[in-house]
Amino acid sequence: MSDCQRPNRPESLPPEHIPRVEELQTVSVLFKQLSDASRLRIFWLLCHCEACGTELSAIVEMTPPAVAHHLRLLRSSHLLVSRREGKEVYYRAADTAQAQALHHMIEEMVEISCPRDGRG
Ligand SMILES: [Zn+2]
Repeated sequence: MSDCQRPNRPESLPPEHIPRVEELQTVSVLFKQLSDASRLRIFWLLCHCEACGTELSAIVEMTPPAVAHHLRLLRSSHLLVSRREGKEVYYRAADTAQAQALHHMIEEMVEISCPRDGRG
């Protein structure tokens, strides 16, 4: 990102380097899924701890079905991973560049930092 050089004029941009709309579609879909503050809050929590739906619903004060809905969307965007332990499913942020970028973007935008003992 920081090594991006801004050209003076559009004609200096090589056409083959301009992303096609289809290529940006995945980004657009992801941003659409993130257009919910509660979902971002759950994602941020899961960047710093592993938790099951029951624990999350207590923390964010939402009903378990509402939390499950957000978890489903976040997982379908590959931002979360989960593991089953007995009857419970535990979630945490995926160890991907996309999840890390989003994690740091959220913190930069609201000017917060990672909890001291968190994973991030
Ligand atoms: Zn953090």
